[in-house]
Amino acid sequence: MRRSLGVLAVACVVVLAAIAAARAQAERDGDKLSVVASFSILRDLVANVGGDRVDATALVGPGGDVHVYAPTPADARIVGTARLIVVNGLGFEGWMDRLVRASAAQAPIIMASAGVAPRQAAKPGSFETATAGVDPHAWQSPHNAEIYVANIRDGLIRVDPPGRRTYEANAVAYIAELARLDTDIRRAVAAIPAARRKLVTTHDAFGYFAADYGIAFIAAQGVSSETEASARDVASIIRAIREQNIPAFFFENAVDPRLLRLIAAETGARIGGTLFSDTLSNAAGPAATYVDMMRHNVREIVDGLR
Ligand code: ZN
Repeated sequence: MRRSLGVLAVACVVVLAAIAAARAQAERDGDKLSVVASFSILRDLVANVGGDRVDATALVGPGGDVHVYAPTPADARIVGTARLIVVNGLGFEGWMDRLVRASAAQAPIIMASAGVAPRQAAKPGSFETATAGVDPHAWQSPHNAEIYVANIRDGLIRVDPPGRRTYEANAVAYIAELARLDTDIRRAVAAIPAARRKLVTTHDAFGYFAADYGIAFIAAQGVSSETEASARDVASIIRAIREQNIPAFFFENAVDPRLLRLIAAETGARIGGTLFSDTLSNAAGPAATYVDMMRHNVREIVDGLR
């Protein structure tokens, strides 16, 4: 009996020491709130709102394709230790629920797109597959990005109430930047003759942008890059380019460009530059932040269509 009490006491000391070590580690790390975002664009928004208080990580980093992402054990560890998890929602991260379950995450999960008016993917000429319902690419509208920022701000305040004033001030400043971005996009698009505001791109990722700024996008693939365009889709695109006299079409990063080369050869339409839809570039690239990405895309579109 005495011996078992002794063993129990030792066990308690070991457990208490482990808890103390974990607390000390948390305090060393605790300078910054660890927040995990599903992909690079969301991570940038989180970093802007969180500022110095937050350490933001993206599961799918620059150049990765969220539609077909396969989470790793390292992702489960990151999600499991995060204080806040930020996802896009609208069916974008089909792999996320399983990852959260596997990681036994305790942190709240916020959906950045909550409150956005969802766009239906099904529209004539976009060639999406039957599985496509809601278009998840809501961040392609800077107005929607304002909603994302407000949701991220509220999520950060929820898990870190002492940071409220910081998060509120950062959100106000960043939303002002988004308003300037919107003004600049409108001005740039106005320089394109109205009859030339139409283009073809690889996957149907620009519907929200199209709705905001009055540029028609025809996509070679549906809202997910997962599905390959069929031979019939390609034939429809070629016909559309010829019939509607579409001046140019664009590659996207993270999508196989061979399809568009084929279409160029068939139609003689101009191949525009690279558009960023679902991912940022690396830090040295032209789309290292959300705002840089939008400005880069608009420059490429204006150059291609003017
Ligand atoms: Zn996409």
